[in-house]
Amino acid sequence: MPRKTYAGKDVDVSFDPEVCAHAAECVKGLPTVFDTKARPWIQPDGAEADDVVAVVGRCPSGALRIERAPG
Ligand code: SF4
Repeated sequence: MPRKTYAGKDVDVSFDPEVCAHAAECVKGLPTVFDTKARPWIQPDGAEADDVVAVVGRCPSGALRIERAPG
């Protein structure tokens, strides 16, 4: 499965499942945005855009990426 982009109002996030190391930084950091039980599992509008950027920055594998930053 290739990298997929999840578009939000202020921020777009992409995810590559082949790169994900399952460290769960994302789901622990912002459960309202990253919820593996929800579809789509990434909801970029589920929190403040700056918080989404911060948590994506903590992804250790590079699976998560900011495609469009706020502002
Ligand atoms: S933080 Fe990155 S590596 Fe960890 S589960 Fe989320 S996407 Fe995968």
